[in-house]
Amino acid sequence: MLRRIYGLILTIVILAIAASGIAAFLIIETYHDQVNEEYLTNAAGVIEQRLIAATSYEQAAQSAIEIFSRGDETIRVTLVRPDGQVAYDSETDAATMENHLYRPEIQQALGNFETGISIRKSNTLGLNMAYLALYSPKLELVIRTSISNANQMQGYIRLLVTLAAVFSLALVALIILGYFSLRMITRPLVELKNAAIQVKQGDYKIRVGSLLAEKSELSDLSDAFNAMAGHLQATVSDLEDRNARLDVILNSLVVPLIVVARSGDVVFLNKTAQDLFDRHLDPEQAQFPLILITHHSGTETLVSDCLHATTAVSGEMTISTVRGSLIFNVTASPIHYSGTESAILTFLDVSQARQLQRLRSEFVANVTHELRTPLTSIRGFIETLRHGAIDKPDVARRFLDIIDVEAERLHQLISDILVLSEIEDLREDKEKTSFNLNALIDDVAVLLDETASTRNVSIVPEAGDEILMVSASPFRMKQVLINLIDNAIKYNREGGRVAIHAVRLAPNRVELRVSDNGPGIAPEHAERIFERFYRVDTSRSRELGGTGLGLSIVKHIAQLYGGSARVESKIGQGSTFIVDLMI
Ligand code: ADP
Repeated sequence: MLRRIYGLILTIVILAIAASGIAAFLIIETYHDQVNEEYLTNAAGVIEQRLIAATSYEQAAQSAIEIFSRGDETIRVTLVRPDGQVAYDSETDAATMENHLYRPEIQQALGNFETGISIRKSNTLGLNMAYLALYSPKLELVIRTSISNANQMQGYIRLLVTLAAVFSLALVALIILGYFSLRMITRPLVELKNAAIQVKQGDYKIRVGSLLAEKSELSDLSDAFNAMAGHLQATVSDLEDRNARLDVILNSLVVPLIVVARSGDVVFLNKTAQDLFDRHLDPEQAQFPLILITHHSGTETLVSDCLHATTAVSGEMTISTVRGSLIFNVTASPIHYSGTESAILTFLDVSQARQLQRLRSEFVANVTHELRTPLTSIRGFIETLRHGAIDKPDVARRFLDIIDVEAERLHQLISDILVLSEIEDLREDKEKTSFNLNALIDDVAVLLDETASTRNVSIVPEAGDEILMVSASPFRMKQVLINLIDNAIKYNREGGRVAIHAVRLAPNRVELRVSDNGPGIAPEHAERIFERFYRVDTSRSRELGGTGLGLSIVKHIAQLYGGSARVESKIGQGSTFIVDLMI
């Protein structure tokens, strides 16, 4: 910038100097011509007066030459008759001179009977001359005075040289002074420019002003610049704060969130989405299609549907994630910003809800089935009795016994379902009391002793008389023990043994073990026998009066006390049911 201003000023100054030189030259030349004209007019006037006083041509001319000659600038006098014939010339023999009628100054003088002026080269002397012709009507003669321009030219050259020298000196002074003063003026501008570049590069803390202490347009500019930089700094920091806040909010959302452009490319995905879909890509670096994240074309369809309908659309789909295949309710909502259309996708995990729904429907189907079986049987036997069997006392008694067993099974089934749903609804057991678990084990052993004896199975509580105080509901713990010991009796072999063992593992942790030496459970069943209505052998379970809910009740009671239930079993060697309880 400095160089350009400097160059511009120099050009203007040089042009001004050249223009003023030319103007001065022209003014001086005009002035000189005027002086010459006056000078030659006066000389011609003197000659006319002398000639009127009847002085000879020679004397009149010489007296004027004496008066008006300036140093070596001698006046030349020529007297011309109206027909152009030269009557006298102070420097050349008149007789030898050609006719002067058509000399411009003579023509002018004769034309207006006054004066004529011409500056041209003399045909006779071959010099640049200034001519003045004055027609004297009294003398009937044109008096022409002339003077050489040679000295004048020299004067001009001298003047030009002097002017050039003065102007050159002035120019040098101007170059030096101009350079330094321009530097002083432009330095703040350069400082401003550099500050502006730094602002462009993101340094909003920069301020200018050290060089602009005094009040001027530049200091106003620097004030405006500083105010602008301050405003920018405040705005940028405000924006950064907002961005950071928005980032924290979006990335703290537990809901996976993806923003997709109309083109189908992802423009943003929050941390939850990155982690869930295991795609740690930054869309700001390079955009990528949505399918790369979800691997489900349904999400792309949702985006295009919502942008087409300009309203939120939802759909349920199964998508693979780091947590396995999950069912999501995906919602795509259209958004508009900066003139672009995009869609926000949110993923609501409904896997658990769907699982619960499925389990509930399965449960209802199972319950219906389980209830229908004894009912159908009861109704069948009642029908048979009505159709005559009632008249055969033996048959009727047998049928009534069967009806009684089926009704008992129904009763058992309904009470198990009620117990299960009651425990499922409980968050914690409010009926806790402190009691001796080993005493309760003994009670249950006595209770089931008869059943065990009928199957030739012995029950062995291994803890003996040891006191094991626990804090739980004795009713629920009794239910656990009955279900486990009853199973161990039912599914035992002839002459089998049931061992019951309770031990405290930690101050509030008790492990209960019920072992048998029955046929055992295959591993594929071991995992599932705690599910509702799951039986290894359905007909045998029914035959033994089982409802398929016993172990499920055990598991739920264990969970109610912050524990768990599992089985360890070997085919042919027996099973051990282990219940871990925080009691
Ligand atoms: P059920 O009323 O049929 O006994 P449970 O929920 O108590 O229902 O048990 C589920 C299934 O687990 C039983 O049907 C049986 O097949 C199996 N089972 C339970 N306890 C034992 C055990 N001690 N030994 C072998 N199998 C067992």
